[in-house]
Amino acid sequence: MNEYIKSLKDQDKLNISINKEKAFNWKYFKIAGPCSVEGDSIIEIAKEIKKCGADALRAGAYKPCTYPILKEVNGWKEGLRKEGLELLKEAKNQSGLPIVTEVMDARMIDQVAEVADVFQVGTRNFQNYTLLDELGKTNIPILLKRGTWGTIDEILGSCERILVGGNENIAICLRGVIGMPNYRHVFPSIRWAPDLMMIPALKELTNIPIIYDPSHSTGYRNFVKPISKAALAAGADGLIIECHPNPTKSISDADQAIDYNTLKKIY
Ligand code: PEP
Ligand code: MN
Repeated sequence: MNEYIKSLKDQDKLNISINKEKAFNWKYFKIAGPCSVEGDSIIEIAKEIKKCGADALRAGAYKPCTYPILKEVNGWKEGLRKEGLELLKEAKNQSGLPIVTEVMDARMIDQVAEVADVFQVGTRNFQNYTLLDELGKTNIPILLKRGTWGTIDEILGSCERILVGGNENIAICLRGVIGMPNYRHVFPSIRWAPDLMMIPALKELTNIPIIYDPSHSTGYRNFVKPISKAALAAGADGLIIECHPNPTKSISDADQAIDYNTLKKIY
């Protein structure tokens, strides 16, 4: 064991647990929905997703892209933003499903809190400490997505950063990491490597629930179902899956979106 890890262990820094009494009882086993809120279609999608057994609707109103230049597609510019949040509110009212949506910046917390039942912290903000500090002061559940570079101690460290603020309602989302270059020449939409071993590894160290994201971690719709099953077999507490009524037409992340029929079969 290297000295750094040993010192973290000695300081009990690799043992970040939540107080289950105080903590939110993570009940979102199957979170599903499109990558982005694309328009008022989100209302119908919410109802359909519910019929497919989802416990919560996911969709980004604010959508950071991997390439950081604002790009506009039919009036959609890194998400519908405020309008997207309004549409999510309507989707929630009409379907009764709780909403999981991204908050990108500490200044947006109040705005997103008007509709979010769970704040998603995106990969790109995994170590945005100002955001984590401010979210730690709320009591809204947080789904913390692992940075594509995040090591196990960094994952626990970011959790701790939220926990010290007093918010124990957190879950870790594993969404794939940097790597796997020998797949991309055959499956070009694959961008990240699924890291299933992180599930049992985290389970050794923490009782924080683990939600697996088979969509971003595979990047290819045909792999979403098998990797979902593998993640559950490895001990994941739930899944967050991108699903769209017409997957190939998704505005963002079209290659990894699955259809309703496939979603129904994942549990
Ligand atoms: C998403 O969930 O649509 C998303 C942008 O994920 P990530 O932050 O993991 O890239
Ligand atoms: Mn996405």
